[in-house]
Amino acid sequence: LIEIKGLHKSFGDNHVLRDIDFAVGEGEVVCLIGPSGSGKSTLLRCVNLLERPDGGAVIVRGENLADPDCHLDAARRHVGMVFQQFNLFPHLSVLENCTVAQKTVLGRKTAEADRIARANLERVGLTEKAAAYPAQISGGQQQRVAIARALSMDPMLMLFDEPTSALDPELVGDVLTVMRDLAEEGMTMLVVTHEMAFAREVADRVVFMDGGVVVEQGTPDNVIGNPRHERTRAFLRRVL
Ligand code: ATP
Ligand code: MG
Repeated sequence: LIEIKGLHKSFGDNHVLRDIDFAVGEGEVVCLIGPSGSGKSTLLRCVNLLERPDGGAVIVRGENLADPDCHLDAARRHVGMVFQQFNLFPHLSVLENCTVAQKTVLGRKTAEADRIARANLERVGLTEKAAAYPAQISGGQQQRVAIARALSMDPMLMLFDEPTSALDPELVGDVLTVMRDLAEEGMTMLVVTHEMAFAREVADRVVFMDGGVVVEQGTPDNVIGNPRHERTRAFLRRVL
């Protein structure tokens, strides 16, 4: 579904991504792990073109997003993104947060957008919070609204950038449960996370990045359970 080939990205003379190669198949869950500054967020932002790659290809359904002729809005429409900070609109209700892009980007009518938003709020267990405002719900609930909002756009791929790292520890579990359910339903997901237990349990593949390169990738049992590279072992010693 997504293929990343020879991807490079620099900010000035900071060469952040150096020849990244990997793929995410339809229905696959890939967890991206690595130390702070290794380029994980930049890689995710290249996949939905919040950043333009300097070289290489990001091929989504056969279309190369790195190609300057590629239609950005059309490409991005099919990719849902959930950030560490939930980025909800504070002046809109939970329901409105989940309908506004459906109406403006996809051109859905209010009734249809409401129906789809309510179905996705139910999926994340927040039916009863539809009328609340972001400031009235917990961080974990806000993050689940962010997930419902992304799902309401019918994404073929969901990107998550450390979705639980801004949350109080007791709120992390509910968000991970929603993500695990999504994975079980067959959603294609690329997840940057420090939650090694989640990666071990849910990921089909784990990609370990350090210093802008993919150091190793494979099954969770291999990469987390039995890493081949010293850099991977050193990282895991620090996070496990
Ligand atoms: P973390 O685990 O802390 O989130 P990360 O692996 O996501 O780290 P990135 O955010 O991708 O790392 O950053 C990789 C490098 O790119 C860092 O050196 C960072 O300073 C730099 N960088 C990221 N975004 C920009 C930007 N917009 N402008 C300039 N430099 C940037
Ligand atoms: Mg990051």
